[in-house]
Amino acid sequence: MIEHEFLDWLRQRLPKSDSSSTDDYQLQDDAARMHLAGDAIVTSDLLCEGVHFELKQMSAHQIGRKALAVNLSDLAAMAASPTAAVVSLLLSPSTDLNWAKDCYEGLLSLADQYGLQIVGGDTNRWSSGIVISVTAIGQSGTGGILSRSQAQVGDQIVVTGSLGGSLQGHHFRFTPRVHEAIELMEQFTLHSGMDISDGLTLDLSRLCEASKLGAELWLDQIPISAAAQAASEHSMKTPLEHALGDGEDFELLLTLPADEAARLTKLQPLEIPITPIGQIVAEQGLWTRAADGSKTAIAPRGYIH
Ligand SMILES: [Mg+2]
Repeated sequence: MIEHEFLDWLRQRLPKSDSSSTDDYQLQDDAARMHLAGDAIVTSDLLCEGVHFELKQMSAHQIGRKALAVNLSDLAAMAASPTAAVVSLLLSPSTDLNWAKDCYEGLLSLADQYGLQIVGGDTNRWSSGIVISVTAIGQSGTGGILSRSQAQVGDQIVVTGSLGGSLQGHHFRFTPRVHEAIELMEQFTLHSGMDISDGLTLDLSRLCEASKLGAELWLDQIPISAAAQAASEHSMKTPLEHALGDGEDFELLLTLPADEAARLTKLQPLEIPITPIGQIVAEQGLWTRAADGSKTAIAPRGYIH
């Protein structure tokens, strides 16, 4: 049982539904009713204490924000526009209710920013650590839906932003690339895409598997973050290894025809850089090519859940 005081606070805190709107969310009913004009894009992610976060390392606000942000990144991966979310929060026997409120405030700060409404969920206590589950619902933008499986031989591979070293702080501060994905989908011919959550090489290998193709990476072109440089000072890895395998970058990984990639990288329409890092090839697997033309296989590395 969760204290009534918290549930009363939550009812007050969540924005009221607008009954004159066609998007008619009624929080007092047993379930939420949503009116969507087209396809619904649905994604869900769990954050668990001891696995995905430690209470000593992240504030309640940061944990709440991240729980929604990872879902928004998955909607961005499909170039979908966020509409609503359902939030379930499981507290430990000792969790202070102010912690739960701060967690919601973190989540709502991002929901407000992206015009997304919390349409339902549940809060409870159990005998173990804190668990937060968010299910986000989006709608396809005017540019259509992006998927992993439509890459074509000869496509260039591009990434937004820079990669690696996310554990230095990026993993709870990152901006989900929702607006960026929709804008690129509207203005360019994108063949395939996803977000980078588990590490560039692991996620690229998944995109290649879905498209039944391979990829050649241009290792000297990978945009390495300052955090990857910093992380390498205390690890046994190079900055490039951090960029290839760290995960939690939450940037976009896209493939598009070479002429479109040239137009995109010249225009640079986003506030963050877009960098070509390789090309899609027919031979399955990940490859790198030396100056003499010889190919070497790259083992996909990253965070496997
Ligand atoms: Mg993803």
